[in-house]
Amino acid sequence: MTPDVRDRADRPFRADPRTVTGGAIPEAAWDRALRLIGQADEIALACHVTPDGDALGSMLAVGFVLRSMGKRVVASFGDHHFVVPRLLRFLPGQDMLVPPQDYPAAPELMITFDVSTFERLGLLRENTARAREVIVIDHHPSNEGFGTLSLIDSTAAATAVLAEQLMYRLGGRLDRDIAVCLYTGLVTDTGSFRHSSTTPAVHQMAARLVATGLRTDEIARELWDRSPFGYLQVLAAALERAALEDGLVWTYVTRVDRAAHGLPYAELEGIIDIVRRTDEAEVAVVLKEDDQGDWQVSTRSKGKADVGAACAALGGGGHHNAAGYTSHETVEATMDAFRRELGKVGWPRAG
Ligand code: 5GP
Ligand code: MN
Repeated sequence: MTPDVRDRADRPFRADPRTVTGGAIPEAAWDRALRLIGQADEIALACHVTPDGDALGSMLAVGFVLRSMGKRVVASFGDHHFVVPRLLRFLPGQDMLVPPQDYPAAPELMITFDVSTFERLGLLRENTARAREVIVIDHHPSNEGFGTLSLIDSTAAATAVLAEQLMYRLGGRLDRDIAVCLYTGLVTDTGSFRHSSTTPAVHQMAARLVATGLRTDEIARELWDRSPFGYLQVLAAALERAALEDGLVWTYVTRVDRAAHGLPYAELEGIIDIVRRTDEAEVAVVLKEDDQGDWQVSTRSKGKADVGAACAALGGGGHHNAAGYTSHETVEATMDAFRRELGKVGWPRAG
């Protein structure tokens, strides 16, 4: 369910950041996390494949905190083609990153960020399976809890909210680098404070982060307001093909489209935000062909349809209003399967 801001607006805000989420994580779980972290010399961090701002930002923020405690920190994500998306290269702390090949084979302690399913660990699945302890920090309602300790709160607007709480509990101090990482996670997952997950507590957290002196204008430009020129051509091709049928708007972008303009896959992230503005559509879908020739399916809902459930049924996951999965089928077959799953979760509604 989408959290309802009105349910929480009248609750008094308390300055202690430990109290700002719905308290879905038991105190005993936090205590155990602190103990595991306290005992470890080296800590291996991981976020989901093709990381977004929340995944990478939360991971690097906690990396800074652990480093300041004297821990050895390695961080990674399990992509075959290990590169930080251009959009996120401004994030500090990237010297913590190692390619999956150099990741500890059997970490003593691992912490995962924004990883909702074991699959989303990609090449780091084996390392995770062999790790002694795995703390899973996440806010996806669909998280299957694949670790030895879950810090999962689906009422949190971003994994960055939980990362901030972990920081305070560890006795860490917020500085500018940490704030840039956490703010990137928060602003990404709330859609620039537009989604219904944007509670008073979210703005209070943003205030703490901005108070460190970070440049919100520069972060916004890096994340959303720049692209290589080729993006305009690829976007034009995608929009040209957009189809509207029964409240569903969809389009696709092929590898060939991108190759013609030398555009990397990661540059396609913003297309869904343009497609989903269609007034006549409740659900928006963009199929993006990756470098391996698979379709990465991005889906969005305005609230009536649970695209998270539909994507979960197709092997992916996400949230009620924003979700995705990977398809190895043709465009037509992929859309047929998606429409079928949407139908099963009761959309479009009869009558
Ligand atoms: P996006 O469309 O921006 O890639 O993803 C939207 C949401 O769906 C994000 O919360 C992301 O975590 C989730 N998501 C996207 N692709 C997948 C996938 O292949 N598997 C799972 N479990 N979640 C996904
Ligand atoms: Mn997230």
